[in-house]
Order: sequence, then structure tokens, then C-alpha cells
Amino acid sequence: MFGVGYVGLVTGACFAELGNRVICFDTDERKIAMLERNEVPFYEPGLAEMIERNVAAGRLTFTVDARVAVQSSDIIFIAVGTPMSESGHADLTYVRQAATKIATLLDGPKIVVNKSTVPVETGDVVAGLIEEHRTGPHKVAVVSNPEFVREGSAISDFMSPDRIVLGTNDPEVGETMRRLYAPLNAPVILTNVRTAEMIKYAANAFLASKVSFINEISRLCEKLGADVADVVQAVGADHRIGKTFFQPGLGFGGSCFPKDVMALRRIAETNGVEPHILRAVLDTNEEQQDHCLQKIDTHFEGRLAGKRIGFLGLSFKANTDDVRESPSLRLALRLVEAGARVVAHDPIATDNAKRAAAGADLSYVDSPYVAADGAEALVIATEWNQFKHLDLARLRATMAAPVIFDLRNIVNLDDAREAGFKVVGVGRGSNSIASVLQRAPGA
Ligand code: NAD
Repeated sequence: MFGVGYVGLVTGACFAELGNRVICFDTDERKIAMLERNEVPFYEPGLAEMIERNVAAGRLTFTVDARVAVQSSDIIFIAVGTPMSESGHADLTYVRQAATKIATLLDGPKIVVNKSTVPVETGDVVAGLIEEHRTGPHKVAVVSNPEFVREGSAISDFMSPDRIVLGTNDPEVGETMRRLYAPLNAPVILTNVRTAEMIKYAANAFLASKVSFINEISRLCEKLGADVADVVQAVGADHRIGKTFFQPGLGFGGSCFPKDVMALRRIAETNGVEPHILRAVLDTNEEQQDHCLQKIDTHFEGRLAGKRIGFLGLSFKANTDDVRESPSLRLALRLVEAGARVVAHDPIATDNAKRAAAGADLSYVDSPYVAADGAEALVIATEWNQFKHLDLARLRATMAAPVIFDLRNIVNLDDAREAGFKVVGVGRGSNSIASVLQRAPGA
């Protein structure tokens, strides 16, 4: 396994769990040293236990020596990062480095599997680099095997996938890969390399489209006095549509959707196909984040400076410590920029947020109640379970003003009102700022 990030480490641990012998290599020696000390470099539920079990059973090892990883393996996965470059294209630097390294260490026939999310034709790039730098005459097959796990539920996603996508132009290699995944009993889509690469981008772009679609509908609901929660409930009940990735909120973020939609947009532009939908998906997402900031700014009548705001959630979604492209962290920083005094709490993403937002005047505390203490408004930015069951009376007792901006629609409105709160959600037209203020106690 080349790369022990969110995807590589989960994949490596899960393949070991299935009985394979897995060697994980990473150029980041700090991460490998941590793993050798039984520490997991990031948070993923169940991963630490799985790693410990498989290390103890001798099926999972870690190395900083690429030679050991390549020469002990029949199948080599590339699971390195593919961040967005300045131009919006996927940056393939790490994929290229991994492919080149593998080529220089070949000692026998290998299957090189690209698990990173990469533009169509990257399989050809990897094959070309291996051809260019190879040290021996051995057969090397390049396979595309995109990954669909979600951070926060990566292990169960890996173990019970909706489908396995295998892109190869070699039937024998396809059969070997199918056998590797056979214990999962999942449907296998066997296709060519380019199609497999396209499948991953199309899947992520479609999910991001669902998010932007419902965010746009939520804005209309706010204008028209409709409640998006009921819209989601009813529209999502249609099995052709479904409720997943169909919740309005602060917009999508994370290490995948923003960069993958942008990369697909660039691919379309490069190939002369007008990316109408992809452009709209990205624009709507930006607008949604602006819109959420606007809600808070409007409440304070444009005078955010000096306001004390409690802020709950910094990771880009619940159950992860990942703050890459997190709309929550971004909103917190925008409030700070506007002069607000923001006191933030996240169950596990605080350390990553501190690193990502180094130098920003953002305070961090280890309890939602401390974040809310003395606050003139409480913002719920990430849908952590902990924030669904807050003791509202306790919050109300210490806040300077009873206002909650529930940007994930997770607060029970009846309970909140009973506790004396004004709740400003997303797309809750019948619960819009104006109508909520009208109904609020004393209004
Ligand atoms: P990550 O940044 O968490 O991890 C990437 C790892 O690769 C890092 O540890 C880095 O040190 C290592 N690396 C870089 N160059 C290397 C090299 N030459 N050799 C060995 N290791 C090297 O990234 P991630 O979130 O795991 O994502 C990896 C890929 O999987 C990306 O293409 C991403 O789009 C895709 N993906 C991610 C997710 C997700 O939920 N994070 C889901 C599906 C697909």
C-alpha cells in the first residue's frame, strides 16, 4: 500500500483483516513511526482496533522502505493524495512519484492498482511512467480501482460496499483482482481503465449535485415560507431520489467533493464539453456558505465586530477529524475576520483545526457549554451527534442571548423554543428569521 492516509490505511487494514499480508509504505516517516508505535495518525471509528489486531496477527506491517513494500508484494496499491492544483486540475505529483518509485524497484510481475481519485487517462500516465523507469522486463498491469468509502464509516463502507469497480484491459488481471475482493461478496463492475476512472468522478459529482440541489431548494423554501425538512422527507422517500446527500446545510466540503467536482469541470472544459451542471454545483455551494454567514450577519444587523459567538463543529462532517475544505472551519474563520469573538468546540477535530487555522484569532474549548457560555449566539456548524442532544436549558442559562444558528437542522425546534431559544435553521421558511422572531417569547 503506497500511502497511509484515510484511504490507504483503511484499505490496508481491511485487506489484512480479510487474511491478506499487507505492507504499508508512506513517504511521511512521522506517520509510519506513529503506526509502528500503535498510534493511528487520524481518527476513524474502529480503525485503531483493526490495525492492532492485524499487526498482532502478523498480517499488517509498516515500512519507510519502498523497496521492501514493492518487492514483497504481488499487488501494489497507489493510495496517495491527489489535491487540487492552482488551476483546478487534479495534481498528480504524488501519483507520478509513487509510479516512478515502483518502476525503479520492480523485481517480478506486479499489478499496480490506482486507488487514488484521478482524471481519466491517469492509468495511461502511470503505465507510461512505469515503462519509462522500469528496472526489469517483468509484466506490470495497471488497474484502476476507485474507492468509495466515506470518512467516519470507512471500515463498514469498505467491508460492505455497494459495488467494487475494477478497470483493467487484461481479463486475467481482472480475475486476480476479483478474487482479492471475493470475500466481500459485493457486485463487481469490471470495465476498462478509463471508464473506472470516470465512474469515481461521476459518482462524487452526482452526490455533490444532490447537496447543491437541496441547498438551492432550501433557499427557495426560506423565501416562500416552506419547510425544507418536510420537502426532504417527502421527496427523499421516493426511492429514485433517496434521502442521502440530500440534507441542506452549510454546503459540501472535505478532501474529495470540492476538488473532484472542480477536476471534472476542468476535464470537461479541456475536452470541449460545457460543464453547465458542474459549474452550477460549485457556484451554489459557494453561495450557500455565503448565505449562512449572511444569516448571522443579518441577525446582528451587520455589526458582527466584538460579538461573542459560540461555535460548534469544525470538521467538514461528523465522525471525522478531517478539516480539509471544511465549510464549518471556514465559516468560523469568516466570523473571526468580521471581528466576532468566536469560541469553538469540536469533539475531535480541534488539533487539526488549530494546525489548519494557525495564527487565526479563534479560541478552542473542550465543551459545547463552555463555547456557549456568555455567547450572544450559538452556531451549530457540524452535525455531530453530541450536538443533537444538547442540554438546552443549561445552554440557555449561561448564554448572553438565546439564539441558535442551526446550520445542519439538527436541533429539535419544539424543545429549543420551549427552552426559550430562537432557532434559525436552513431552509425552514416557516421557521425563517422573521417568523421565528415573531413567535419568540416576548416578541
Ligand atoms: P491523505 O492525504 O490522507 O493521504 C495520502 C498519503 O499519501 C499521505 O500519508 C502521504 O504522505 C502519502 N504519500 C504521498 N506521496 C507518496 C508516495 N510517493 N509514496 C507513498 N506515500 C505517499 O489522502 P486520502 O484522503 O487518503 O486520499 C487519497 C486518495 O483517495 C485521493 O486521491 C482521494 O481523492 C481519494 N479518496 C479519498 C477518500 C476520503 O474519504 N478521504 C475517499 C475516496 C477516495
